[in-house]
Amino acid sequence: MMRGAFDDVPLTALFPFLTAADVDSLYQVAGMVDTARAGRTTAGWEWAREHAVFPGTQLGTPVVVGLDVIEHAGGGDQLEFLLEVVWIDPGRLAVDAAVNVACWCETNHATHDADAVRLVVGEETSLPGAFRAGAEHLTGWLADPHDADYWRAKAGLPSRRSD
Ligand SMILES: [Zn+2]
Repeated sequence: MMRGAFDDVPLTALFPFLTAADVDSLYQVAGMVDTARAGRTTAGWEWAREHAVFPGTQLGTPVVVGLDVIEHAGGGDQLEFLLEVVWIDPGRLAVDAAVNVACWCETNHATHDADAVRLVVGEETSLPGAFRAGAEHLTGWLADPHDADYWRAKAGLPSRRSD
């Protein structure tokens, strides 16, 4: 994965079907997300040029471009917010937005998505439309901060053990 500012993302190489207006829309939405994540720890925007075409799912869900906002990572705990454009099938993209927390189950699953939405890009939803809707989830979560235990409780997952 390459990493940098959204301005560095080679949008037209990754998504050759985008119109100039679509590109403008993506920039506008990314600007909204960048404002919402200001002052937080993030890994920045990441993208994979080799995922401009569907690479298969042998290595998991292929991420074309995404952002990981780390709200808390310490003491073995974790709370992250993700916004990603992914491939779900050959020729079919989706935008995933998720709240990701560390697992405190008896059996260690490493992490869980405590909340997640997937917006499939298709005839009814454009990539810019899906990106905007996913970004609105992300900025909504960021505007209403909670700790990881709040999200685990909401998802019916065990809380962090205090011992
Ligand atoms: Zn678990």
